[in-house]
Amino acid sequence: MQKLVWGEVNKKRKKMTTISSTWNHEKIAAAGPARKLHGVARGNYNVQRHSFLTQQVCARSLITDDVLVDDKVIQTSQCILCKQSRENVEHLFFDCEYTIKVWSEMLKWFGIQRSVLKGKEEWRWIYNKCNKHVQSTHIFKAILSATLFELWEERKNRKFGNYNNTEEQLVSKLKKEVLMNLQSKVHKLHDIRENRAIAAKIGLDVEFETVQPILCSWIPPKLGFVKLNTDGSLKKTRAGYGGLLRSNEGRVIECYTAQCKCNKSVLELELLAIQKGIELSIKEGYARLEVASDSLKAIQIIKKKARCPFQCRSTVQDIWEAQNHFEEVTFTHAYRETNRAADLLASLEGPCECRFFMPPLEAKLNRIIEEDLAVVYHRVKH
Ligand SMILES: [Zn+2]
Repeated sequence: MQKLVWGEVNKKRKKMTTISSTWNHEKIAAAGPARKLHGVARGNYNVQRHSFLTQQVCARSLITDDVLVDDKVIQTSQCILCKQSRENVEHLFFDCEYTIKVWSEMLKWFGIQRSVLKGKEEWRWIYNKCNKHVQSTHIFKAILSATLFELWEERKNRKFGNYNNTEEQLVSKLKKEVLMNLQSKVHKLHDIRENRAIAAKIGLDVEFETVQPILCSWIPPKLGFVKLNTDGSLKKTRAGYGGLLRSNEGRVIECYTAQCKCNKSVLELELLAIQKGIELSIKEGYARLEVASDSLKAIQIIKKKARCPFQCRSTVQDIWEAQNHFEEVTFTHAYRETNRAADLLASLEGPCECRFFMPPLEAKLNRIIEEDLAVVYHRVKH
């Protein structure tokens, strides 16, 4: 039986919101910027109640004045922090002057010197930041979730407790709280410049441990197989994917590259890259294929070990069906260092439609192909 956790009534469905409905991917995808919810709300050093509040912010399930006006509980909606706008999740995080000042100070504390961007743009930046699985991201998540929590607390205190903190007071309270929390949870950090800089900046006293690099290299396909390396690339103004087929001797058979609209997620691009490479292999008549992508998530989804987001379902379905065209096809995760050729192809400038080409290749790509055959890469996990 599902446990009811808070009492927002979903008007369209006429039912109570539950934990599982908040985490429902389709609902979140429809809600827009909240689709990368998991990454933002879950951090190794987060305080549980901060994560829960972050989850509610991302799912837009907080009961703000706008919600109460819609439900005809109150007449007018006003942000109690700035008193200059209606109150809703978008305004509170981060369009409100008060919250912008607080968030901007917290970013500065973390070592990010820039002004807070306009609402959705700021969230886009946050989602991308939270997408990296490194220790500094977990520190960032602890700061973000604590900030969201304390801003919501401040709003509650002003409404119901009748007292308020200035921006400076809240920032100082937040810094103390976050530091105390991190100090109790972070005992060791990898000894890299970024971690040292953050620890020094926020005053975190931790031990630094040397990271042993992982040795990795591009692995040629088994005899009789063709290797497909793929990659997706998402930057601020450009999105694309690419890949290449190589023989057992490491000789390039064919490459492809395409540009896409920037509204796609990295995962969608990674899966499109795999789909296009498989299509190409079928067209060229290869019966045995080894697919390697540097997106662990994409590989897990194809292997049915991870849940497929709604927007990727048709691409993944195509990949599953295409497997029937092969005698044998395998999917493996490749380290980024061994997938540089596909990475370069994914970030090439060009028209929207997918372009295919064969050797001779441009000098930079050729150099990577040659290095893949000779170099053992050192991978340092941050
Ligand atoms: Zn406001």
